[in-house]
Amino acid sequence: MSNYRIETKCVQGGYTPGNGEPRQIPIVQSTTFKYSTSEDMGKLFDLETSGYFYSRLQNPTCDTVAAKICALEGGTAAMLTSSGQAANFYAVFNIANCRDHVVASSTIYGGTFNLFSVTMKKMGIDFTFVAPNCSDEELEAAFRPNTKAVFGETIANPALTVLDIERFAKAAHEHHVPLIIDNTFATPINCRPFEWGADIVTHSTTKYMDGHASGVGGCIVDSGKFDWLANADKFPGLCTPDDSYHGITYAEKFGKEGAFITKATAQLMRDFGSTQSPQTAFLLNLGLESLHVRMARHCENALAVAKFLKSHNQIAWVSYPSLEGDPYYDAAKKYMPNGTCGVVSFGVKGGRKAAEAFMGHLNIAAIETHVADARSCCLHPASSTHRQMNDEELAAAGVSGDLVRLSCGLENAQDLIEDIAQALDAIK
Ligand SMILES: *Cc1c(COP(=O)(O)O)cnc(C)c1O
Repeated sequence: MSNYRIETKCVQGGYTPGNGEPRQIPIVQSTTFKYSTSEDMGKLFDLETSGYFYSRLQNPTCDTVAAKICALEGGTAAMLTSSGQAANFYAVFNIANCRDHVVASSTIYGGTFNLFSVTMKKMGIDFTFVAPNCSDEELEAAFRPNTKAVFGETIANPALTVLDIERFAKAAHEHHVPLIIDNTFATPINCRPFEWGADIVTHSTTKYMDGHASGVGGCIVDSGKFDWLANADKFPGLCTPDDSYHGITYAEKFGKEGAFITKATAQLMRDFGSTQSPQTAFLLNLGLESLHVRMARHCENALAVAKFLKSHNQIAWVSYPSLEGDPYYDAAKKYMPNGTCGVVSFGVKGGRKAAEAFMGHLNIAAIETHVADARSCCLHPASSTHRQMNDEELAAAGVSGDLVRLSCGLENAQDLIEDIAQALDAIK
């Protein structure tokens, strides 16, 4: 499977049925698994043999779908989580403990910003946020001796900035820490961060991967490239024996390729239990089968809508990285030559009030806390997903009061444009 192109991996990756086995992936709707002897079971607990014993830790359906996403990203190991939030939390908490520090891009998803700046701060982990287009000096100055990771989004939700992955990977590696990239908006169809030096990739599979607004989920993929043992002093959790897991040293026993995901499963999933259900994983896999077909159409529709908005005199500004003239156009061309995503952000002249009135007149795009669905939807982040932020934080996150986030679905582009035109007419 590894030699096939990404479209083939979308359809067939992760699962190769044997003779007479089901063509579609089986939904293993079982919390537990049976063994003949306690000794057999004991070996599983010791991670001496691989196998299933309890679906909070691992389930065959979820593993099959994780293997497909792993293949799409070009990684060595992957796990599904119950949500994108859980994926980002686990990815960071797997290597950063109390009294540690993480450098993160300031233009990240509002939920992630809150997780980092409020909840994980309470756990004793400090974050320094830097603008994705900060100077090399600013980026360098953000690091501390106790920095354990760098975090950013390929395309930020909803600011639509594009991260210079190579530059952030270089800075992270100079400080002997991994770069974690949330690749939700680009998907591996449009960008594979490992090819640019990222070490860990996360996803909210809730978005384009599922693609139909049917299941909340997340995923973590390891590139298998980061050498934990070479930086053992920084990563004791991976490089010293885990007393809570029979004295296993993950980096020694599972190598660069498997240590990160094995630890996240054996420790974090065991203790926090943010598992994806096999039913949801099955639905996610249906979405993945058509991901490559859908992404192209999402991008085509979004570009047409962005061009229309740009030419409209009631629109103050448009942000879409695939639109010529966008500040992130060159970065988008470099990292995502085939297209970016289906989400367009823009400002309606007249500010917050006009933005809200405009959204109320749209007939196709519904007002939803969502993006990346087959059906178009829109949101006013300043009064919803980002409402916990103060003005300063909003500005740093790239969210202005007039910002409308429009997620272009798979409808006809001309219908979307005509609907936007009539809504703008209605608020004249
Ligand atoms: C939605 C989103 C998340 C959070 O994912 P959930 O599945 O909603 O928990 C994280 N990162 C990005 C970029 C997102 O768009």
